[in-house]
Amino acid sequence: MSTYCPSCHKDDRIYKVSAVYSGGIEHGTFSSTDGPVHGTSQTVLSGNLAPLPKPSISCFVYGCSGLFIASGALSVFWLLFSLLSLGNNIDFNELLGLAESLGSVVFSLVVGVGIYLLASLSVKRKMPHWKAAMDAWNRCYYCDRDGIVFDPINETPPAIPVGSFNDYLKKW
Ligand SMILES: [Zn+2]
Repeated sequence: MSTYCPSCHKDDRIYKVSAVYSGGIEHGTFSSTDGPVHGTSQTVLSGNLAPLPKPSISCFVYGCSGLFIASGALSVFWLLFSLLSLGNNIDFNELLGLAESLGSVVFSLVVGVGIYLLASLSVKRKMPHWKAAMDAWNRCYYCDRDGIVFDPINETPPAIPVGSFNDYLKKW
């Protein structure tokens, strides 16, 4: 079965979106006003045809979660230290101090682990949508004549303007 552009009904100038995307990224040396620059340049077209980034836990979440867990671990040391320095007769203030340390251990660990679990649950929920969007991205074509993208197995909308392609991917 041949694939035709829904706009011009021809197949001579259609290219896989994935190929146009990677073809639009150039690695090498570029000239700039400050002299040659090494790096990666991306055409506007290639940028518009980019796949959605894979859902992942952000550095910020790792940082917050790590801080709480580290503070919980420190509290464990403080609790052990307090336990070891107790005399035979424990008074009410010492008992209160121990309870506070224990509370702080539990609180920090619960919050730290909780933040991580919530973030990974959210990533897990986004994953099927991301996979469906990647499938769509892999099967879509770009027509160079009309400057549109189309999905051969999903014809609503039949022709997607390049600028709206990212929004189309987000619908999956
Ligand atoms: Zn066309």
